[in-house]
Amino acid sequence: MRVLITGTPGTGKTLIAEELGKLTGWDVLHISEIAEEASAVRHEEEESTVDVARLFSYLGLVLKKKKNLIFEGHLGCEAPCPAELVVVLRTHPEELEKRMEKRGYYREKIDENVMAELLDYCYQLAEKNFSCDILELDTTGRTPKTCAEKIFAYINGSIDALDKVSWENYLERKTGRHPRGE
Ligand code: ADP
Ligand code: MN
Repeated sequence: MRVLITGTPGTGKTLIAEELGKLTGWDVLHISEIAEEASAVRHEEEESTVDVARLFSYLGLVLKKKKNLIFEGHLGCEAPCPAELVVVLRTHPEELEKRMEKRGYYREKIDENVMAELLDYCYQLAEKNFSCDILELDTTGRTPKTCAEKIFAYINGSIDALDKVSWENYLERKTGRHPRGE
């Protein structure tokens, strides 16, 4: 099974993919490294940008050669690619903010990522781009190891669902407004 782990930066993709790699014995590929290999990254002064079309055409070739693997990255949800399972990691916006602050992200980047998480950005894109199973996993208050064990249990067939995540109530409490204006 080819498993994509995606989600907003800071949700724990890299750590959880490594843990899941240990549990399954499957290779773990990092989409950021594949983007470099594909020469799809343009390094600029402020921020580097990725040519998503170039990345995904190369990624498709890499994935076609493997039956079992784990690949991870926030760009994973941006376009279709060969996968049998997509896991979208979710983290409560306040915890996500703390993780990014600890990591030294700029305020602007933190706000942008918190907003993406609040609006289910990755999950909605995954739904648009993938026809395989798409699961959400809430990492809030859970260790990367516990999260990986949950995904492993799903792969094994010992559980048949993960989480259903929505920060709508939190957003409503914070802003006093419903996100869809209802
Ligand atoms: P991503 O690859 O999604 O950006 P990382 O795996 O690199 O996320 O983790 C981002 C940061 O959040 C790291 O500093 C890591 O230590 C922390 N972190 C990741 N998962 C958890 C977790 N479940 N609980 C607490 N902190 C976590
Ligand atoms: Mn990462």
